[in-house]
Amino acid sequence: MVFENQICDRCHRPTVTRIMSMFNLDMICPACKEDERKHPLYELACQKEREALQRGVRNFPGIGWPAGDHSDLADS
Ligand SMILES: [Zn+2]
Repeated sequence: MVFENQICDRCHRPTVTRIMSMFNLDMICPACKEDERKHPLYELACQKEREALQRGVRNFPGIGWPAGDHSDLADS
């Protein structure tokens, strides 16, 4: 089954391809994924994902998408 008109969970625009967000469980379009890659917390998000995998945590929900607010993300 081919999904030709999926909706990006983040920008809510139609997209052919959806990619799992590194920050949360959103399925996002390539443009939003590119925004994530440029985000200052992207490396942290990747690191937390790796740590979760090393602890055997499956379906790690991510650190949460800061949505442009970078100041108050708790480093827990
Ligand atoms: Zn999008």
